[in-house]
Amino acid sequence: MNFSGPRFVPTHPNIVELDRIGDEIAELSAHLDAAIARLLDLIREFDARGGWNNGFLSCAHWLCYRVGLEMGAARERVRVARSLGALPRLAQALARGELSYSKVRALTRIATPEIEERLLKVGLAGTAEHVERIVRGWRRVDRKVEVEETARWHKHRALHVYHDDDGMVIIRARLEPQAGAVFIQAIAAARQALRQRVRANGAADSSAEPQFVDGPAEPRYQDGSPEAPTIEQQEADALALVAETALHHGIDPGAPGERYQVVVHVDAAVLADADAPGQSVVEDGAYVPAETSQRLACDASRVVMRHDADGRITEVGARTRTIPPALRRALEHRDQGCRFPSCGRRFGQGHHIRHWAHGGPTTLSNLTMLCRRHHRAVHEEGFQVERQADGELCFRRPDGSVIAQIPAPPPIANDPVAVLRERNTAAGIHIDAQTSKPGWLGEWLDVGYAIDVMHPAATGERASSRSAATMATADSQ
Ligand SMILES: [Zn+2]
Ligand SMILES: [Zn+2]
Repeated sequence: MNFSGPRFVPTHPNIVELDRIGDEIAELSAHLDAAIARLLDLIREFDARGGWNNGFLSCAHWLCYRVGLEMGAARERVRVARSLGALPRLAQALARGELSYSKVRALTRIATPEIEERLLKVGLAGTAEHVERIVRGWRRVDRKVEVEETARWHKHRALHVYHDDDGMVIIRARLEPQAGAVFIQAIAAARQALRQRVRANGAADSSAEPQFVDGPAEPRYQDGSPEAPTIEQQEADALALVAETALHHGIDPGAPGERYQVVVHVDAAVLADADAPGQSVVEDGAYVPAETSQRLACDASRVVMRHDADGRITEVGARTRTIPPALRRALEHRDQGCRFPSCGRRFGQGHHIRHWAHGGPTTLSNLTMLCRRHHRAVHEEGFQVERQADGELCFRRPDGSVIAQIPAPPPIANDPVAVLRERNTAAGIHIDAQTSKPGWLGEWLDVGYAIDVMHPAATGERASSRSAATMATADSQ
């Protein structure tokens, strides 16, 4: 090789050339940030108006599928898009290319309308690394507040049960939010079950048809009080049912397939011909549409009742699982989660492609795994799934169009950079190599002091206490 000549001595034209490239990088980056602002506006509107809600679990899932974003990045885009909706100053700075997407992404983790102005100044003055450090320190203060609150909840959880003078039992409870949510759900489910029983019993009276009843004792009001129970009385009955059910099941939350039980009425004469269509009828739950009871029946426990010609029940079969455990394991092993395009959630339910109530067999080829969301989509929202001759599944939207497993990318212009510049210019955004340059002049950043003067929970006496600020700085290093 020839080493003659001053290869590594930068010459003047070289510096000028590299400066020009550097400026172009800075300018194009600012253009891209301005375009991201527009992209986030679109994502926010698309998300708010539910444009993704045609088979996808969330806007992030849709982005992951349609745009090819990795799931974490997709979630982050949606999060930033949503928060910028309430942060117009940060949104404008991004749209003008003055604040990079990296900085905006970091700032939106802590920004609220009250402190937006202060954070904008931090974003414009500091480098992305400064912003990152400020945000981390800020969240440490927030987390401390949060941890204290969670600890306070946990400490103050309590249940008081005592007898009133008239012999009634009074219950008063303070539950942590998660436990409270479970409790509220259980009461709602119990109320629903009680209402269905009332209706089922009403139907039995008019048709003189015996009903299959399982589970805890009947609530008293059905044959007792002549008046309809008040909401408060219904809630009390629901609480009693929750307690009875818990004892009845040995305080065992149970597996998914055991949470629903389906009663099937079978015409004894038709049952002889296993291939006859409509041989069995799933009993529609009161207040539950047929589509919903079919979904619940897809993967549930089942009790078969045979009727004679007069409609009297001649035989009640043992309770069995719709999908036997061994087949369910094989199904889970084959499908590895929900098979709806782009979903892939690990836990799901077995779906009969042709429903067993319509004569579909419970075999691997007639089954597919679907998550709760997508199981609902195929039963209640008009989505369709069929197994093709090659064994692959084909999913369709309610309008019949096929949902591709991987969508085709949209066509783009030959010179996307020129298009981007034109668009930004047309939108009145002036961008040059200096637009996104931080105002920082190289001074040392005291993160602890910066947070002490800006954070609402940290301002006050701590801001004036130099030692507290110094400690916070040491802590953040
Ligand atoms: Zn199903
Ligand atoms: Zn799914």
